[in-house]
Amino acid sequence: MIYLDNAGPTKMNEKLIEEIKFFSTVAFFNPSASYKKALKNTNFLNDARKEILKKLGFSKGAVLFTSCATEANNLAINGSFREGNKEYLFSSGEHPSVYNTAKSLLQKGKDVKFIQLQKNGEINYVDLEEKINEKTRLVSCVWVSNETGAINDLVKISNIIKRRNPKTLFHVDAVQGFCKIPFNFNNIKIDFITMSGHKISAPKGVGALFVRDLNELKSISFGGEQEFSKRAGTENLPAVMAFSKQVENIDILYNLEKVSSLRKTFLETIKDEKISVIDCKSPYIISLSFKGVNGETLMRALENEVIISTGSACSSKKAGNRILEEMGFDKTYIKESVRVSFSPDQSETEILKAGGIILETYKNLYERLKWRLYC
Ligand code: PLP
Repeated sequence: MIYLDNAGPTKMNEKLIEEIKFFSTVAFFNPSASYKKALKNTNFLNDARKEILKKLGFSKGAVLFTSCATEANNLAINGSFREGNKEYLFSSGEHPSVYNTAKSLLQKGKDVKFIQLQKNGEINYVDLEEKINEKTRLVSCVWVSNETGAINDLVKISNIIKRRNPKTLFHVDAVQGFCKIPFNFNNIKIDFITMSGHKISAPKGVGALFVRDLNELKSISFGGEQEFSKRAGTENLPAVMAFSKQVENIDILYNLEKVSSLRKTFLETIKDEKISVIDCKSPYIISLSFKGVNGETLMRALENEVIISTGSACSSKKAGNRILEEMGFDKTYIKESVRVSFSPDQSETEILKAGGIILETYKNLYERLKWRLYC
C-alpha cells in the first residue's frame, strides 16, 4: 500500500519512539510539580519551547503546547477575542478548525468577515486591504492550504495589516507549512502561529501555539497554571519532547527538494488531458480533478493499493468542498477532485508505481462510466 495522504497524519519517525519511551517510563514526572525530578522536566519542556521558537526564527515570544492544532487555533481566536466594537477577519480558505471557530463567533452575533480567495487559492489581497479598518482586532489566515497547497504571501499580508491598522493581531495557521516550507517568521509582524506534530512525522496529540505577547491572550479553559496560565492541563511531555526532537532534526531544504522531485515524477506519470491539476505552490500537496469519475469512486477503487483523499478528513464527510468552491470551480469539477500529498520519506519508485496505478484505475473507471457524461 502506498500512502499519499500525508497532508493528513504522517507516519511517525520511528526514532522518536525512544523519546516517547523515556519520557513515559523514566522521566515521567509532571513538569508542573515542585520536586527535583519534576523541575528537571520543566527544563526539558522549556528546551522544547526554545527549539520550536528557533525553528520559527524568533529569539523572543512564547510557545505554548496544546493537544493539537485544532486546540491551538481555537485558543488563538477565542483567547484573543475581546468584547466591544471589534471586527474579525478570516480567509475563506481556512481549515475547519479556524473556519468553524469563526462561524461560531458569527452565530453569537460578532462582527466576522471573510476574505475572498483568488482562482489560484491564495487570498484576494485587495479584498483584505479593503476589509481591514480601525476596528479590526484579528486577521486569521492559513499559510499553506491543506486542500490545494496554495501558499499565502505572509509578508504581503503583514505589510497590509501594518499599513491599514498596526494594532490588528495577525494569526497564521502554519500547520501545512511549518518545517516544510523555509521561512523566517521573525521578518514579519505576526502575533500567533499554529503548528501540529502529526503533520511532520512527530506523534499525534501535540500541537503548539506561538504567542508574541501573552497579554493579548486569555485562557479559554480553566484549571491549573500550566502553559503560562493560558492552557490548563498536564502537559503531554512524551509527545512534546518527540515533537521538538523532530523539529530539531528536520532538514527542511533537503525535504523540499526531495518532495518537489516526487511531485514532478507523479505529475509526469499521470499526464492525461482529462486530468486537471491546480497549480499551487507547495510541492507537498496537489489537488487534481479526474473528468468523468467522482473523487470518492476513485479513492475507493484505489484504496487497497494507493491511499489518496477527497480532501481534509475534517471536512471530507461533508458534500462538496468549500475551498474549491470559493476558488470558483464548478460542482462537477469539485465532485471529481481528489487530494494527493507526499512525504519526503517516500521514494521515486513508490511514486512512479502509485502514479501508474492511479492512471490505470482512472482510465478503467472512465471507460465504464463515460456514458454518464453524455446523458
Ligand atoms: N490546520 C490545518 C491547515 C490542517 O491541515 C489541520 C489538519 O489537517 C489542522 C489545522 C488541524 O490539525 P490537528 O489535527 O493537529 O488538530
